Amino acid sequence: MKKQSSLKWKLYKYLTVFALGLLAVIFVFQIVLLEPMYEKSKIQSIKAVEKSVELGLQTDNFDEFISTMQTQSDTCILVYQDSGSTIAESQSTTGCVLYSLSSKKISSYVTKAGQSEDKSYLARINMVPVSFAGPSESNIFHTIVYTKIVETAGSDAVIMVAGSITPLDATVSTLTSQLYFVMIFLVLGVVFLTVLLYRKIVDPLIAINNNARMLDKGEYQPTDRNNTYSEAIELDSTLARAAENIRKADKAKRDLISNVSHDLRTPLTMIGGYGEMMIDLPEEKTDENLQVIVDESRRLNNLVNDLLDLSRLQENRIVLRKEVFSINAFINEQMKKYEVYRVQDGFLFEVHLDEDRDVFADRVRIAQVFNNFMINAINYGGSAKHIIITCQNINDHIRIGVRDFGEGIDEKDIDVIWDRYYKVDREHVRSSSGSGIGLAICKELLTLHEAQFGVDSRLNEGSTFWFELPVYHEEKTLNNQSLS
Ligand code: ADP
Repeated sequence: MKKQSSLKWKLYKYLTVFALGLLAVIFVFQIVLLEPMYEKSKIQSIKAVEKSVELGLQTDNFDEFISTMQTQSDTCILVYQDSGSTIAESQSTTGCVLYSLSSKKISSYVTKAGQSEDKSYLARINMVPVSFAGPSESNIFHTIVYTKIVETAGSDAVIMVAGSITPLDATVSTLTSQLYFVMIFLVLGVVFLTVLLYRKIVDPLIAINNNARMLDKGEYQPTDRNNTYSEAIELDSTLARAAENIRKADKAKRDLISNVSHDLRTPLTMIGGYGEMMIDLPEEKTDENLQVIVDESRRLNNLVNDLLDLSRLQENRIVLRKEVFSINAFINEQMKKYEVYRVQDGFLFEVHLDEDRDVFADRVRIAQVFNNFMINAINYGGSAKHIIITCQNINDHIRIGVRDFGEGIDEKDIDVIWDRYYKVDREHVRSSSGSGIGLAICKELLTLHEAQFGVDSRLNEGSTFWFELPVYHEEKTLNNQSLS
């Protein structure tokens, strides 16, 4: 397995990459791209000045307008009419490169502007001041000259705007030395941030990890929640909940073992006891005593089958065999089994069926659920011996309910009765097939059907156990089937 590096090294790595990236971006923008970007923005501002002059051509006091423009934009402006006469020019011509240009050069700019599509020409001239001994990159002045031919009333005019580009060498060297400081600051920042983040993020995690060492035994000591962050608190709560669940699961496992052994021992003792009695006392070899052995072994068989069923369901090893069937016919057929309770024990079964509908479900498994509800209603229905079976059409669903008028279920037990081997009262009267896991099996089967189910119950008033199946619509289900 690949060895994972610690969070500390990961933080160092990521923050260093971030710092290097930041330095590279600063270097590219502040040093490499500084001059081209500056030149580009200078050209844009020169063009903007030309545009303003163009718009101001008709102004009455044009000379004053030009002079103001020039001062504000630090440029030098000349406007010629096509006849060659100057109609406006800089008031202060000192240093203006346009006056040192030969008329040949100017006319070459105008010609080039005339030839271009947008009637403009951009020239970049390098000039060496006379006082310098010789040209070098640092004493050459770069100037941008923008020439544009525009149409005025009747004749054409030529607008020339020149702006010098200040050499940036000094700025670049200042920025380069600043970059060293930024680099030192970033290195220190990376170290400081790593240590700080490590403390803030990792320390609570280490504490939680230490506390979670006994988690497999269901023990977890909540961590000190001061000086930490919400995700760590959440993790802490999740682990505390997990420990609680492990404890509960462990208890449930122990309960299950003790309950199963108890329920296995009772019939086994009966079978053994009755068998030995019949061997020792041949006159006790009666049909009734043999029936006890048969009943108890059946009960044993049911318990083992239920346990196997539940474990197969929980391991997803049970596949539903769905078919389309009429729900009313299904209920009527199931109710035949309870005729014996009506005749022998005086039970009253009221069956209320809505208009018949088809459902698409595993008939055998749905019968298992229904019969579990029925047997429980008989077992826990008390002396009322009155059970109402309903089949209602609600919002394109069939709701099947089994209501009894027995002792009901306490509110605190409602959620847990669906849990494996949960019994409200261990000494309860048990049906011959009652294994204490019937409702847990029902829950798994109904969940497998994606069916809604539940129980409405009130202590001493009785309970209604119910589940819902969607009404079967031919086209819909066929489509779903062909997709699957
Ligand atoms: P069993 O009936 O074999 O004990 P179940 O899983 O079917 O097992 O039921 C679990 C528990 O739920 C029962 O032991 C009983 O306490 C409670 N219970 C189930 N049905 C009813 C009911 N109709 N009325 C009251 N309590 C019920």
